[in-house]
Order: sequence, then structure tokens, then C-alpha cells
Amino acid sequence: MKAMKYSSLIVCCVVFCTFFAASSYADLPKVVIVATGGTIAEKTDPKTGGAVPAVSGKDLIEAVPGLGKIANIEVVNLCDIDSSQMTPEIWARLSKTVDERLAEAGVKGVVVTHGTDTMAEGAYFLSLTLKSDKPVAFVGAMRDVSDVSPDGPANILNAVIQVCSEEAKDWGVTVTLNEYINSARNVVKTNSTNVQTFDSGEKGYLGYIAMGKVIHYNDAPARQRLPIPDKLPDVIFLSTFAGDDGSLVRFAVDRGAKGIVIDAVGAGNVNAKVYEAVKYAIAKGVVVVITTSVYHSGVWPMYGDQGGGETLEKNGAILGGDLPGAKARLLLMLAIAKEKGNVDEIKKYFKR
Ligand code: ASP
Repeated sequence: MKAMKYSSLIVCCVVFCTFFAASSYADLPKVVIVATGGTIAEKTDPKTGGAVPAVSGKDLIEAVPGLGKIANIEVVNLCDIDSSQMTPEIWARLSKTVDERLAEAGVKGVVVTHGTDTMAEGAYFLSLTLKSDKPVAFVGAMRDVSDVSPDGPANILNAVIQVCSEEAKDWGVTVTLNEYINSARNVVKTNSTNVQTFDSGEKGYLGYIAMGKVIHYNDAPARQRLPIPDKLPDVIFLSTFAGDDGSLVRFAVDRGAKGIVIDAVGAGNVNAKVYEAVKYAIAKGVVVVITTSVYHSGVWPMYGDQGGGETLEKNGAILGGDLPGAKARLLLMLAIAKEKGNVDEIKKYFKR
């Protein structure tokens, strides 16, 4: 009789715990992790010393203790490449995949694991093209899984905490590493080796994650939205330099580029030969955007004057404001497609 009571007590406990676990599991928000590769998923090949893809999205998640207590995680392996091999076409595929998952009612947000070399540009591409307003956090690592202290697992944990948080509701797409949260629009990679590499300069972080809590510092910058065209136009990104004879600009035009972004010097200055090459490009119907490699403040209509008040802008070049050149290229690709090359309409996307 006693054994009967004891066993029924055990059954009740098991049923209760199972129900409790199931209900608490069911209560957790759902987060989709889309894996694309990068150092976070690489290991150092002992033979060559080079970084090789080594970890699937599923393995990545298993390396993050406690993740299952924060969210129901689903992993999508989109690709497994070093982000130096990324292309706008792959980012277009990533954007569509992320949008599909965000459209699911139960999905709270998405975490994208990505290489850091082109992460700022990839995050910006998604901030321009995603239809959903739900939170998306790009994460990566500066130290791979072979390192003494890989930083990937903590970055993934923080990103999941972030996309589940109320604070992140209106941040859109972010780049979140080493506990700092940056907007996709303003973030740049500033250090080629250090874990504290992503920064937003004078514009500041959106927030910070400490002890599992998200701290809100700033709202995200206004978001521009453009559709993903069937085919992304050919837009070239060039830097000018002392002694530049403008031949690369002319080559890009003759090669059939629809747009050219030129990282000028200072606040948007180019030499006389490049100035003539820019005029050649514009005369051929190529859309030219001028940016600068200078970190803060961007380009201003004070230069390009080759006498007589002629300036780059007066000749039809578009000033790229404070966007870095590689991001301006992505915006120009999408704007040329949407506005069918109409320079006056395209110019509006670069207005400060
Ligand atoms: N080369 C790597 C990448 O961009 C660097 C990193 O992920 O930290 O994929």
C-alpha cells in the first residue's frame, strides 16, 4: 500500500516537473540564430595556422551555457564563410531569410553570427532592406574557438538577451560585441585584433549589456528602407590618393559601372585629374557619390572647386554625408535600382 502511495507521488512529481518545464519552456521567447560563418565559427588549423570553418550554428549554441533558460533557440545555417568572402548578393539572401523568420508571430528577434571584417556593412545592408521592425543583432568574435579565451559564446548570449529585451524594441539592426551595442548605421570596425573593435565614434553606443541586463543609452538613428532588386546594380568603390591620375575612375566607367563611390581626401577633396574623371563619369550617366576616409564629420560642399566656382556637387556628384564609403556603396546600389538611376531622387537618400 505504502509503495503504491510512494510511486504515485513520484508520478505526480514527474508529471508536475514535466508540465512545469514544458510550460516554462513554452513561456520563453523564441529567437532564431542565423549562422553565416566568420571567426566565431572558425578554428586555427594547426598545420597551416590559418583560420578554417569548424563550428556549425548548432555547435555554436551548445557552447553557450544557460542560453536555453533565456529563449527557445532555433538555428539556421545560411552559409559558413569568412566574411571577407561576403557579397551584397549573399546579404540579400540573408535579409530575405531573416525577414521570413521575423514574420513568424512567435519569433521575438534574430541573432546573426557573422565575420567581423564586413559585419558593419552586412548589418547596414539589412537595416536598409529588412521589412520587419523586430530586433536583429549581429554578433561575431575576434578570438576563434581555438583561442585561450574565445569571445564568441559571451557575445551570442548577450545578443540573445538583447533581442529578448524591451530596451532593444526600437533599435532595429545592431552590431553587438564585447557588451557594447552599436547601430548598424553608425558602427565601424576600429581594431583589427582587439575584442573591443566595434565603435560608433561621436554618435555613441545605443547601449550596453552588463550582468545580463540591457542598458539603453540612445535611440537608433532614423532608418531608411529600400527594396531588394532582382539584380543589384554594379557599383564600384574607389579611394583617391596623392598623384591619382583618375584612370581607375575612367576604367570603372568604361567597364560599365552604374555607380561609383569615391573615398576622397579631407572633407571631400579630389585632385584636378580625378575631378575631370568624375565629370567624364557623370557625362556617361554614371552616378558618383563622394565620401571620405576621415572618421568624423564626413564630406561638405567646400571642395572640388577647380576655379570659377565649379564644384563636384555642381557637376552632379552626390556628397555622401558622414557615411563610410563601403556603406555608401550599398545604399547607392539599392537607390539606383529603386530610383532607376534618377540622380535627383537618389540624392535624397544621402541628404544629411
Ligand atoms: N576574418 C574574420 C571574418 O571576418 C574575422 C572575424 O570574424 O573576426 O570572417
